[in-house]
Amino acid sequence: MQVLRTIPDVRAVRAQAQGSLGLVPTMGYLHAGHMALVRAARDANDHCWATVFVNSLQFGQNEDFNTYPRDLPRDLALFEEAGVDVVFVPEAETMYTADFSTYVDVEKLTDRLEGAARPGHFRGVTTVVCKLLNIVQPHRVYLGRKDAQQLRVIRRMVRDLNIPTTIVPVETVREPDGLALSSRNVYLKPDERQAASVLYQALQAAQQRFAAGERNAETLRAAMHAVLAQEPLVSVDYVSIADDESLKELTTIERPALASLAARIGTTRLIDAMELGREDTTPE
Ligand code: AMP
Repeated sequence: MQVLRTIPDVRAVRAQAQGSLGLVPTMGYLHAGHMALVRAARDANDHCWATVFVNSLQFGQNEDFNTYPRDLPRDLALFEEAGVDVVFVPEAETMYTADFSTYVDVEKLTDRLEGAARPGHFRGVTTVVCKLLNIVQPHRVYLGRKDAQQLRVIRRMVRDLNIPTTIVPVETVREPDGLALSSRNVYLKPDERQAASVLYQALQAAQQRFAAGERNAETLRAAMHAVLAQEPLVSVDYVSIADDESLKELTTIERPALASLAARIGTTRLIDAMELGREDTTPE
């Protein structure tokens, strides 16, 4: 496995890579969710590349950029073991020169949910992903469904800007109790970790009512709130039943929808999501 740190190095190695290339962009501190993306990328492409970059641009001023967990040696060992061919690990200065002044902004879709809770977050995400796509030029990009709005925002950017790559969504990998794997789970104290499974239970409550035929979105939101309210350590940021494409809040579910939520447990903010009425696979 090659570890590259500069853009000229990436371009040189990329020019030699014949056939299809799948890219897995990450912020590192890898877990089994990231590794599912790697497996999907490796299985469907001639080359599997990954990036590790904790992108300051997508963190708010009072967010956890400085404390975000990092362990590059372990990440590299895990990527190597999983059969990744190349890992691009840029320094901040490589991605953002001192006079950097160009940004990618996906409108409307980013006004809601995470975009409303974290102003500027998606501008940071789309800007860095656009740069990584321009640098690596992958045929396919592998993204997790857990970050449901991020997946839709990046898909929209790729479509609107005609970026020649295909976005491949990957199912959310969960702990046995349902908690979605996340690098931020390490922040949770033992009692908080135990409480955190209620996020999945809330999504399941919505999913079960939907499967039983309930189409009133407010009833599903109320069901999610009721489950979350059972856990005193959890404070709800938002609960949403939105149109799967526009992410607008729904009154009645008539097309595929997205159940999503964000909650704080202690100082840790976690998000999760589940699709309702998706046709291509069984429910998560
Ligand atoms: P991150 O390092 O948190 O920025 O995540 C990098 C990629 O891994 C994103 O596409 C995430 O959606 C994806 N990802 C994170 N957690 C999971 C998970 N539990 N299951 C599947 N994919 C995930």
